[in-house]
Amino acid sequence: MKISVQKNRCPQNHSCPSIRVCPVGALEQNGFDAPVVDEDKCIKCNKCVRYCPMGAILIKD
Ligand code: SF4
Repeated sequence: MKISVQKNRCPQNHSCPSIRVCPVGALEQNGFDAPVVDEDKCIKCNKCVRYCPMGAILIKD
């Protein structure tokens, strides 16, 4: 499984609120760019997937 950020769904005009819900600090954002997932840190908990209001973060097999 892998967390995938869909850039086309992310407006990239705000601080990503999903960063705050990640329990391990695996989401990083450069400016207002779409966030990126640090695969080494991510524990696939799905919290960011459920939280993103735009549905821009997906979990894929
Ligand atoms: S799935 Fe969980 S651990 Fe991975 S980036 Fe999202 S909130 Fe963080």
